[in-house]
Amino acid sequence: MPELPEVEITRRGLLPDLAGRQIDGVVARHTRLRYPLPRTLGRLLAGQTLLDIDRRGKYLLFRLDRGTLLLHLGMSGSLRLVPAAEPAGKHDHLDLLFGTRALRLRDPRRFGAVLWVKGDADAHPLIAPLGIEPLSGAFSGDWLHDATRGRATAIKLFLMDSHAIVGVGNIYASESLFRAGVDPRTPAGRLARARCERIAMAVKTTLEAALAAGGSSLRDFIHSDGGSGWFQQQHFVYGREGEPCRRCGMKVRALRLGQRSTFHCPRCQR
Ligand SMILES: [Zn+2]
Repeated sequence: MPELPEVEITRRGLLPDLAGRQIDGVVARHTRLRYPLPRTLGRLLAGQTLLDIDRRGKYLLFRLDRGTLLLHLGMSGSLRLVPAAEPAGKHDHLDLLFGTRALRLRDPRRFGAVLWVKGDADAHPLIAPLGIEPLSGAFSGDWLHDATRGRATAIKLFLMDSHAIVGVGNIYASESLFRAGVDPRTPAGRLARARCERIAMAVKTTLEAALAAGGSSLRDFIHSDGGSGWFQQQHFVYGREGEPCRRCGMKVRALRLGQRSTFHCPRCQR
């Protein structure tokens, strides 16, 4: 599933190619995504210039002259720049045409979303409730400490709550808490300021490591037709139940937390 780093890499990869370019038209091959594609999408977008691409959580916001195209990659979506004449595959549902090139949305499972927002996209019901951006300067140990006071919820579930913090999915929450040396079950409200500081730094470090890992293959990914395209990463604990901890050698344990698998090292994370 595309996570925050993949979405951010997509944004950074597309921006230099598309900023300032005009959309000439739209090819919609399959209109039933998570929400039906607007039937008038072609007429709405044709002739508009793409001014900028922003990201909020895992939403991409294509800022156009007269509004914003909101795009979410769902469970399996990816965006690539291809020659417009290149034949579309079975799961290539939507093209935005820019001259001889197309920005092509591939989404085998069709949980992705494409929405046109005429007014203030940041006030849209899908965007407005989103929590703080973990890579922003506003996200800090102090912020985390303040935000978690009085919260009995496990810290891992708090990190994954998109109304609190956006874009920290199961993998990054598990990995960040390993780096911070904190047991994922710890009640969030019981964490002292110093541990909140360690967790906030670990979240940033984990996401930035993923961005760096993806950055090297960024051009290939955005500008190629290669498979699922998402980069592989080495995890400390995620998906490694029963394997030795990379730091201490003890077996990584898995448990269920909020219906999700959680991986941790019982020695390194207390
Ligand atoms: Zn360990």
